[in-house]
Amino acid sequence: TPELKRAESLILEIPDYPLEGVLFRDITPLLADAEAFRATVDALIAPFRGSFDVVAGLEARGFLLASAAAYAAGVGLMPVRKSGKLPRPAAKMSYALEYGIAEVEAHADFPRGTRVLLIDDVLATGGTLAAGRDLLRELGYAHAGTAVLFEIEGLGGRDALNDPRLHTVFRS
Ligand code: IMP
Repeated sequence: TPELKRAESLILEIPDYPLEGVLFRDITPLLADAEAFRATVDALIAPFRGSFDVVAGLEARGFLLASAAAYAAGVGLMPVRKSGKLPRPAAKMSYALEYGIAEVEAHADFPRGTRVLLIDDVLATGGTLAAGRDLLRELGYAHAGTAVLFEIEGLGGRDALNDPRLHTVFRS
């Protein structure tokens, strides 16, 4: 659609951010465009209609997409947070970064077996989404699929995730 074409053109490529040699995809201009944003959120969840009960968004840019997706689909939202930010006991999952480890956490606010669609803005190496998916399993939820706005090809993220229900709206 023309809206999705425009949305794609609104993902900027920023060289050498946050480190030299990294080509950072900046989705802020896409979010700023009402039609592009709406079309992108619709495209993000379209393949999964009827197959999920909740959407989970990964902190922080995943929140922006997941909350819009939850509203559009009429389902609840599960924020998957970086460590140390939740006020109640939470399930935790640690994962390897280039230097050191990181952790994601979520409250167990849904019944076991709840079907969760995992959402983030960018798929790079896949480590973040893999940790999110492991966290869902830890909580006893069913993984309905993974929906990502932009897939950076060539970093092995798709293979690392190995998710037959991975859907990415844009890629390069
Ligand atoms: P991964 O774990 O290597 O797949 O990295 C994905 C995570 O890092 C996501 O939560 C993204 O928000 C963030 N990320 C990695 N590369 C980019 C980028 O080029 N633009 C925006 N976010 C990125």
